[in-house]
Amino acid sequence: MDLRPDPIDADDFRVFPRHLDGKARSRHHAEYAGWHRDACWNGRRFERFPEYIVRAQSIADVGHSIDFARRHGLSVSVRGRGHSYAGCFLRDNGLLLDLSALDRIDVDPAARIAAVQPGVSARQLAQALAPHGLAFPTGHGGDVGLSGFLLGGGLGINFRAWGGMSAFNLRALDLIGADGELLHADAEHHPQLFWAARGGGPGLGFVAVKFYLDCQPLPACITGSSAHTGLDRLGALLQAVERADPPPALQVMIAVVPDDDGLQAALSTLAFADTAQQAQALHAALFSRLPAGLVEPLARDQPSSFEAIYRQSEAMLVSRRYRCDNVLTDRGADAARILAAHLPLRPSPASVPLLIWRGEPRLPDAAFSARGRWFVSTYAQWDAERDDEANRRWLKALYDELAGVASGAYINEFDLEERSAQVERCFAPANWARLRELRHRCDPDGVFHDVRIGRR
Ligand SMILES: Cc1cc2nc3c(=O)[nH]c(=O)nc-3n(C[C@H](O)[C@H](O)[C@H](O)COP(=O)(O)OP(=O)(O)OC[C@H]3O[C@@H](n4cnc5c(N)ncnc54)[C@H](O)[C@@H]3O)c2cc1C
Repeated sequence: MDLRPDPIDADDFRVFPRHLDGKARSRHHAEYAGWHRDACWNGRRFERFPEYIVRAQSIADVGHSIDFARRHGLSVSVRGRGHSYAGCFLRDNGLLLDLSALDRIDVDPAARIAAVQPGVSARQLAQALAPHGLAFPTGHGGDVGLSGFLLGGGLGINFRAWGGMSAFNLRALDLIGADGELLHADAEHHPQLFWAARGGGPGLGFVAVKFYLDCQPLPACITGSSAHTGLDRLGALLQAVERADPPPALQVMIAVVPDDDGLQAALSTLAFADTAQQAQALHAALFSRLPAGLVEPLARDQPSSFEAIYRQSEAMLVSRRYRCDNVLTDRGADAARILAAHLPLRPSPASVPLLIWRGEPRLPDAAFSARGRWFVSTYAQWDAERDDEANRRWLKALYDELAGVASGAYINEFDLEERSAQVERCFAPANWARLRELRHRCDPDGVFHDVRIGRR
């Protein structure tokens, strides 16, 4: 029997969209360029062009698109809301399946479960949950897609108190595999696929079409405090935070930002509590344990909220073009020394490193398996295309050196353009081997694009 895919012709593609609730465009269509441009949050124009883009309007569209792609030997890539820094869903050839219009949210307040489609953003979910007194550890940017965020693990708001990684709050998901079949996966049904969905990252051999999320009670009191110190004291500050061992409901972040004299380390903490008194105690648990004079306090116990956190995070992004890379490390002081050496050389003053205290979360048996008490991510940002190469080189040099003190990396902020060949650094060796084996088993013919850009 000849199992080779049918060659595609223009007639096939004219017939295919008639089966869709949504729309499809080929590279020859006048609207294609706009669809391609709008697919990416990052204002860099990635020169990778799928042959077809499908904007799904229904779960049935996902199945039809996979069937069409499989029959014609087109590799499928998947877009949630397009916030991948590397634009990793934009691949040459094949079919890009855009799920952003699937944005339904159903909340069951009694069970504290939200059923969420893949086009939902962090802000949309927070707004749907708040009237029920519920919350979920979404990402910090309000517009960030939940779908790519969760599949990569998700370092969410109040993550230390709420399960470590957001994906550990996933109770189940509905997915469509390479054969076009709709499956429900949880700890008992298709447990391998459920395992992979909790942190396996981009390029899984299936499309997630609905997530069932365990939600948390919305904290009645969220407050923020801030302080700053010179960049030369960043290492000392990290060590002081480690010694203080902040309580889980206090989120601790340090950004390196410009000040009048050069660069400063800006410490900010967020407390998630039931009362103002409890929130104060959470902030005090860190600030009272920092050595006297190490930081200069700026603000204490300021009212905050999910929306304020989204806006604060969005305010840090001031440019059009982005690249991002990260490490997880237990060697905070060494990372601080490396950052201090590279930051004065950054081509764009707007580029910001962010260090987040993770502590030592207990990891359940899931694909997410990266370890390291500090998350050290840098958002290189600039405006002019002519500066692309200088920023690429600078970020690469910084993270080549940080890799020497790393114990892992987080897939969702890993530079997949530059480091596709090193993606296994984001997983424990056994988890990476299991992911590869699973992917091969679920998608033996390579219907879906691989996580590694440049590979099918
Ligand atoms: C402004 C900004 C703020 C951010 N803040 C945070 C943060 O606080 N915490 C954090 O952890 N991360 C954060 N991120 C990173 C974020 O988690 C990733 O960019 C994530 O991929 C975004 O999800 P998305 O749905 O937009 O992904 P997309 O860019 O749409 O997709 C990325 C990849 O994920 C896979 N994918 C997406 N949806 C599906 C699906 N339904 N089925 C199968 N595969 C799928 C595909 O392989 C796709 O190529 C941030 C990113 C940005 C740009």
